[in-house]
Amino acid sequence: MSVAERAAREQRMANAGALVERCRKCAIGSTRLNSVYGEGDACADLMVIGEGPGETEDKLGRPFVGRAGELLDRMLLAIGLPRDSVFICNTVKCRPTFDDGVKLRNRAPDPAEMTNCRPYLDEQIEIVNPSIILALGAPAAKSFLGPAFSISKQRGRWFEGPRGIPLIATFHPAYLLRQTGGELTAVKRLVWDDLKAVRSKLDELKNAGPPPPKVEQIDLFGKRVET
Ligand code: SF4
Repeated sequence: MSVAERAAREQRMANAGALVERCRKCAIGSTRLNSVYGEGDACADLMVIGEGPGETEDKLGRPFVGRAGELLDRMLLAIGLPRDSVFICNTVKCRPTFDDGVKLRNRAPDPAEMTNCRPYLDEQIEIVNPSIILALGAPAAKSFLGPAFSISKQRGRWFEGPRGIPLIATFHPAYLLRQTGGELTAVKRLVWDDLKAVRSKLDELKNAGPPPPKVEQIDLFGKRVET
């Protein structure tokens, strides 16, 4: 990836993020505190897609930064992927909420919101063009694989995602955080299996690809060296 290509992708991301910030296509565009466009490496091999921002994400304008986000960071690190090496976003860029009479509560995005927001997500996938997509939770997986997708029965399997990109789904970290005791142990084991599948696929795709081009770089003393 050349420096110019990376800069072009980052610029496209910044432009799209500015559009999202002005977007009011859905009612939640007016109840949000901040839009949450997404963040990470615009040239990442892995793109992680959740359903929508929660309360902390809405406050900070960043995806996966609450407790679920901390868990996601640990999950990714466990397979050798620091957070800033992947691209993280959601199917919708505004926090879906309902008013319970006391405060705004999180809810899953509705189909109309997902449809309205899809062009932004499609553009992100086009820009990053990842080797793999990891969908977190049923709503994100269903947005790619259809309403019949069952997270409990079909997580951990590979599907053809958008643009032909291999896609796998696992449980959302927030779901893990709601589990206790034996159920938590069982779900953790399943998620770990899914993460290992992601790691294996990334390695497999890397090894199957052409050898990386030799890059010329300038060492600290100004001499050109081949790596
Ligand atoms: S959810 Fe997406 S489409 Fe809807 S207002 Fe927010 S940015 Fe716009």
